[in-house]
Amino acid sequence: MPRIFLPSIDFKGHTVSIAGEKAHYLTSVLRCKKDDELIVFNGKGRCLRTSIRKAGKREVTAEVLEEFPCDPESPLNIVLVQGLLKGEKMDLIVGKTTELGVKEIIPLITERSRLRETRKAMRWRKIAEEASRQSGRTEVPVIRDPVEFRECMGGTGPDRHGDTAPRRRGEVKGFIFWEDRGSSLNEAIKKIFVPAGHPFAGLPIHLLVGPEGGFTREEVALAEGKGFQVVSLGRRILRAETAAISAVTLVQFLLGDMAEGR
Ligand code: SAM
Repeated sequence: MPRIFLPSIDFKGHTVSIAGEKAHYLTSVLRCKKDDELIVFNGKGRCLRTSIRKAGKREVTAEVLEEFPCDPESPLNIVLVQGLLKGEKMDLIVGKTTELGVKEIIPLITERSRLRETRKAMRWRKIAEEASRQSGRTEVPVIRDPVEFRECMGGTGPDRHGDTAPRRRGEVKGFIFWEDRGSSLNEAIKKIFVPAGHPFAGLPIHLLVGPEGGFTREEVALAEGKGFQVVSLGRRILRAETAAISAVTLVQFLLGDMAEGR
Protein backbone atom coordinates (compact mmCIF):
# COMPACT_ATOMS: atom_id res chain seq x y z
CA MET A 1 0.00 0.00 0.00
CA PRO A 2 1.40 3.47 -0.82
CA ARG A 3 2.68 5.50 2.12
CA ILE A 4 3.35 9.18 2.56
CA PHE A 5 5.16 11.10 5.32
CA LEU A 6 3.31 14.19 6.56
CA PRO A 7 5.09 15.48 9.66
CA SER A 8 2.45 18.06 10.62
CA ILE A 9 -0.68 16.08 9.87
CA ASP A 10 -3.78 16.86 11.96
CA PHE A 11 -4.80 13.56 13.51
CA LYS A 12 -8.19 14.87 14.58
CA GLY A 13 -9.52 15.63 11.09
CA HIS A 14 -11.73 13.36 8.99
CA THR A 15 -9.94 14.18 5.77
CA VAL A 16 -6.34 14.71 4.81
CA SER A 17 -5.27 17.15 2.15
CA ILE A 18 -1.91 16.69 0.44
CA ALA A 19 -0.69 19.45 -1.85
CA GLY A 20 2.32 20.41 -3.95
CA GLU A 21 5.25 18.09 -4.59
CA LYS A 22 3.78 15.30 -2.49
CA ALA A 23 0.49 15.31 -4.43
CA HIS A 24 2.48 15.13 -7.64
CA TYR A 25 4.56 12.29 -6.24
CA LEU A 26 1.44 10.33 -5.24
CA THR A 27 -0.32 10.70 -8.57
CA SER A 28 2.58 10.69 -11.05
CA VAL A 29 5.16 8.43 -9.40
CA LEU A 30 3.05 6.10 -7.24
CA ARG A 31 0.09 6.34 -9.67
CA CYS A 32 -2.46 6.63 -6.89
CA LYS A 33 -6.09 6.86 -8.03
CA LYS A 34 -9.48 7.61 -6.50
CA ASP A 35 -10.53 4.91 -3.99
CA ASP A 36 -6.96 3.64 -3.51
CA GLU A 37 -5.94 3.22 0.11
CA LEU A 38 -3.06 5.32 1.36
CA ILE A 39 -1.13 5.20 4.64
CA VAL A 40 -0.18 8.58 6.05
CA PHE A 41 2.42 8.69 8.81
CA ASN A 42 3.76 11.53 10.90
CA GLY A 43 7.14 10.11 11.90
CA LYS A 44 6.12 9.92 15.56
CA GLY A 45 4.67 6.44 15.74
CA ARG A 46 1.06 7.16 14.56
CA CYS A 47 -0.42 6.25 11.18
CA LEU A 48 -3.67 6.90 9.35
CA ARG A 49 -5.26 4.46 6.92
CA THR A 50 -7.08 6.59 4.37
CA SER A 51 -9.01 6.20 1.15
CA ILE A 52 -8.29 8.63 -1.68
CA ARG A 53 -11.33 10.67 -2.69
CA LYS A 54 -9.68 13.02 -5.16
CA ALA A 55 -6.37 12.38 -6.91
CA GLY A 56 -5.29 15.60 -8.60
CA LYS A 57 -1.73 16.43 -9.59
CA ARG A 58 -1.87 19.54 -7.39
CA GLU A 59 -3.95 18.19 -4.54
CA VAL A 60 -4.87 14.79 -3.24
CA THR A 61 -7.62 14.49 -0.66
CA ALA A 62 -8.25 11.35 1.32
CA GLU A 63 -10.84 10.26 3.86
CA VAL A 64 -9.51 8.95 7.16
CA LEU A 65 -10.62 5.34 7.77
CA GLU A 66 -8.69 4.65 10.95
CA GLU A 67 -5.80 5.75 13.09
CA PHE A 68 -3.40 3.18 14.45
CA PRO A 69 -0.04 3.00 16.20
CA CYS A 70 2.71 1.73 13.97
CA ASP A 71 6.11 1.23 15.40
CA PRO A 72 8.59 -0.52 13.16
CA GLU A 73 11.35 1.54 14.78
CA SER A 74 14.48 -0.02 16.21
CA PRO A 75 14.86 0.23 19.99
CA LEU A 76 18.37 1.59 19.37
CA ASN A 77 19.35 5.19 18.92
CA ILE A 78 22.11 4.70 16.36
CA VAL A 79 23.94 7.81 15.22
CA LEU A 80 26.11 7.23 12.17
CA VAL A 81 28.98 9.70 12.10
CA GLN A 82 30.27 9.35 8.56
CA GLY A 83 33.41 10.88 7.06
CA LEU A 84 32.31 12.80 3.97
CA LEU A 85 32.65 10.85 0.75
CA LYS A 86 32.92 11.99 -2.83
CA GLY A 87 30.29 11.76 -5.55
CA GLU A 88 27.12 9.90 -4.73
CA LYS A 89 28.50 7.55 -2.10
CA MET A 90 26.92 9.52 0.74
CA ASP A 91 23.54 9.15 -1.01
CA LEU A 92 23.90 5.39 -0.87
CA ILE A 93 24.90 5.40 2.80
CA VAL A 94 22.03 7.72 3.79
CA GLY A 95 19.48 5.57 1.95
CA LYS A 96 20.69 2.19 3.11
CA THR A 97 21.37 3.07 6.73
CA THR A 98 17.96 4.75 6.93
CA GLU A 99 16.40 1.45 5.84
CA LEU A 100 18.48 -0.24 8.52
CA GLY A 101 17.05 2.07 11.17
CA VAL A 102 19.60 4.78 12.06
CA LYS A 103 18.12 7.70 13.98
CA GLU A 104 20.66 10.32 12.98
CA ILE A 105 23.48 10.85 10.50
CA ILE A 106 26.28 13.34 11.08
CA PRO A 107 28.41 13.96 7.97
CA LEU A 108 31.94 14.49 9.23
CA ILE A 109 34.64 16.72 7.78
CA THR A 110 37.87 14.89 8.60
CA GLU A 111 41.55 15.44 7.84
CA ARG A 112 41.26 13.28 4.71
CA SER A 113 37.84 14.41 3.54
CA ARG A 114 38.34 18.09 3.06
CA LEU A 115 35.50 18.35 0.59
CA ARG A 116 34.53 21.78 -0.58
CA GLU A 117 31.00 20.65 -1.39
CA THR A 118 29.22 20.37 1.91
CA ARG A 119 25.85 21.71 0.79
CA LYS A 120 24.18 18.42 0.08
CA ALA A 121 22.36 18.07 3.38
CA MET A 122 19.00 19.00 1.82
CA ARG A 123 19.42 16.28 -0.77
CA TRP A 124 20.34 13.72 1.91
CA ARG A 125 17.26 14.71 3.93
CA LYS A 126 15.07 13.93 0.92
CA ILE A 127 16.81 10.61 0.42
CA ALA A 128 16.28 9.77 4.11
CA GLU A 129 12.61 10.69 3.88
CA GLU A 130 12.13 8.54 0.78
CA ALA A 131 14.00 5.58 2.30
CA SER A 132 11.94 5.87 5.51
CA ARG A 133 8.73 5.83 3.56
CA GLN A 134 9.77 2.95 1.34
CA SER A 135 10.97 0.83 4.27
CA GLY A 136 7.81 1.41 6.26
CA ARG A 137 9.51 3.40 9.02
CA THR A 138 7.54 5.93 11.00
CA GLU A 139 10.52 8.14 11.83
CA VAL A 140 12.78 9.96 9.45
CA PRO A 141 16.37 10.15 10.65
CA VAL A 142 17.80 13.55 11.42
CA ILE A 143 20.47 14.51 8.89
CA ARG A 144 22.84 17.11 10.28
CA ASP A 145 24.79 19.67 8.36
CA PRO A 146 28.42 18.55 8.02
CA VAL A 147 30.51 19.14 11.13
CA GLU A 148 34.28 19.27 11.68
CA PHE A 149 35.80 16.23 13.40
CA ARG A 150 37.24 18.25 16.28
CA GLU A 151 34.00 20.11 16.82
CA CYS A 152 32.10 16.83 16.93
CA MET A 153 34.56 15.38 19.44
CA GLY A 154 34.52 18.53 21.51
CA GLY A 155 30.84 18.12 22.25
CA THR A 156 29.82 21.32 20.54
CA GLY A 157 27.79 19.59 17.84
CA PRO A 158 24.07 19.45 18.52
CA ASP A 159 22.45 16.14 19.33
CA ARG A 160 19.27 15.05 17.56
CA HIS A 161 17.10 17.02 19.93
CA GLY A 162 19.02 20.15 19.15
CA ASP A 163 21.21 20.41 22.21
CA THR A 164 24.60 19.10 23.19
CA ALA A 165 23.61 17.31 26.38
CA PRO A 166 24.71 13.71 25.82
CA ARG A 167 28.18 14.67 24.76
CA ARG A 168 28.55 17.28 27.44
CA ARG A 169 27.53 14.85 30.12
CA GLY A 170 30.26 12.50 28.93
CA GLU A 171 27.74 9.81 28.08
CA VAL A 172 29.16 9.11 24.66
CA LYS A 173 28.93 5.48 23.84
CA GLY A 174 30.13 4.26 20.57
CA PHE A 175 32.72 2.89 18.29
CA ILE A 176 35.28 4.19 15.86
CA PHE A 177 35.86 1.75 13.03
CA TRP A 178 39.51 1.47 12.11
CA GLU A 179 41.11 -0.90 9.65
CA ASP A 180 44.56 -0.75 11.32
CA ARG A 181 43.64 -2.25 14.68
CA GLY A 182 40.69 -2.67 16.98
CA SER A 183 38.88 -5.23 19.03
CA SER A 184 36.06 -7.35 17.74
CA LEU A 185 32.78 -5.46 17.64
CA ASN A 186 31.05 -8.36 19.35
CA GLU A 187 33.50 -8.32 22.28
CA ALA A 188 33.38 -4.53 22.57
CA ILE A 189 29.58 -4.57 22.64
CA LYS A 190 29.55 -7.23 25.35
CA LYS A 191 32.03 -5.24 27.42
CA ILE A 192 30.35 -1.85 27.14
CA PHE A 193 26.67 -2.42 26.70
CA VAL A 194 25.71 -5.78 28.09
CA PRO A 195 27.02 -5.37 31.69
CA ALA A 196 25.00 -2.20 32.02
CA GLY A 197 21.78 -4.23 31.85
CA HIS A 198 19.46 -2.52 29.42
CA PRO A 199 21.63 0.42 28.56
CA PHE A 200 20.02 1.79 25.48
CA ALA A 201 17.14 3.76 26.92
CA GLY A 202 17.41 6.26 24.12
CA LEU A 203 21.09 6.99 24.63
CA PRO A 204 22.85 7.43 21.32
CA ILE A 205 25.24 4.76 20.10
CA HIS A 206 27.67 6.58 17.84
CA LEU A 207 29.29 4.72 14.97
CA LEU A 208 32.25 6.56 13.44
CA VAL A 209 33.22 5.48 9.93
CA GLY A 210 36.01 7.16 7.99
CA PRO A 211 36.15 8.63 4.49
CA GLU A 212 37.85 6.93 1.50
CA GLY A 213 41.32 7.70 2.88
CA GLY A 214 40.41 6.57 6.39
CA PHE A 215 40.92 8.31 9.74
CA THR A 216 44.35 9.61 10.72
CA ARG A 217 46.08 8.18 13.80
CA GLU A 218 45.49 11.49 15.57
CA GLU A 219 41.76 11.33 14.89
CA VAL A 220 41.56 7.78 16.19
CA ALA A 221 43.53 8.79 19.32
CA LEU A 222 41.25 11.79 19.88
CA ALA A 223 38.12 9.66 19.57
CA GLU A 224 39.60 7.03 21.88
CA GLY A 225 40.36 9.73 24.41
CA LYS A 226 36.70 10.76 24.27
CA GLY A 227 35.56 7.25 25.13
CA PHE A 228 35.00 5.66 21.75
CA GLN A 229 36.09 2.04 21.45
CA VAL A 230 38.32 1.29 18.48
CA VAL A 231 36.81 -1.66 16.65
CA SER A 232 37.55 -3.70 13.57
CA LEU A 233 35.32 -5.13 10.89
CA GLY A 234 37.73 -7.93 10.13
CA ARG A 235 40.91 -8.38 8.16
CA ARG A 236 39.75 -7.03 4.82
CA ILE A 237 39.66 -3.32 4.07
CA LEU A 238 36.12 -2.40 3.19
CA ARG A 239 35.01 0.55 1.14
CA ALA A 240 33.60 3.26 3.35
CA GLU A 241 30.06 2.56 2.08
CA THR A 242 30.39 -1.15 2.83
CA ALA A 243 31.85 -0.38 6.26
CA ALA A 244 29.00 2.00 7.19
CA ILE A 245 26.24 -0.35 6.05
CA SER A 246 27.94 -3.35 7.72
CA ALA A 247 28.50 -1.45 10.97
CA VAL A 248 24.85 -0.45 11.28
CA THR A 249 23.67 -3.94 10.30
CA LEU A 250 25.91 -5.61 12.88
CA VAL A 251 24.88 -3.31 15.71
CA GLN A 252 21.21 -3.78 14.83
CA PHE A 253 21.80 -7.53 14.82
CA LEU A 254 23.80 -7.72 18.05
CA LEU A 255 21.90 -5.17 20.13
CA GLY A 256 18.79 -4.18 18.22
CA ASP A 257 15.90 -5.92 16.53
CA MET A 258 17.41 -7.44 13.41
CA ALA A 259 17.80 -10.88 14.89
CA GLU A 260 14.14 -10.97 15.94
CA GLY A 261 11.34 -12.27 13.80
CA ARG A 262 8.51 -10.01 12.74
N1 SAM B 1 42.77 4.04 4.99
C1 SAM B 1 42.44 2.99 4.15
C2 SAM B 1 43.26 3.02 2.89
O1 SAM B 1 43.24 4.04 2.19
O2 SAM B 1 43.83 2.00 2.64
C3 SAM B 1 40.99 2.68 3.87
C4 SAM B 1 39.88 3.41 4.52
S1 SAM B 1 38.34 2.58 4.33
C5 SAM B 1 38.15 2.62 2.58
C6 SAM B 1 37.14 3.72 4.86
C7 SAM B 1 36.62 3.52 6.27
O3 SAM B 1 35.93 2.28 6.37
C8 SAM B 1 37.67 3.45 7.34
O4 SAM B 1 38.05 4.73 7.78
C9 SAM B 1 36.98 2.67 8.45
O5 SAM B 1 36.20 3.51 9.25
C10 SAM B 1 36.11 1.71 7.66
N2 SAM B 1 36.71 0.39 7.47
C11 SAM B 1 37.01 -0.22 6.31
N3 SAM B 1 37.49 -1.44 6.53
C12 SAM B 1 37.49 -1.65 7.87
C13 SAM B 1 37.86 -2.73 8.71
N4 SAM B 1 38.32 -3.84 8.24
N5 SAM B 1 37.71 -2.57 10.04
C14 SAM B 1 37.21 -1.41 10.55
N6 SAM B 1 36.86 -0.35 9.80
C15 SAM B 1 36.98 -0.46 8.47
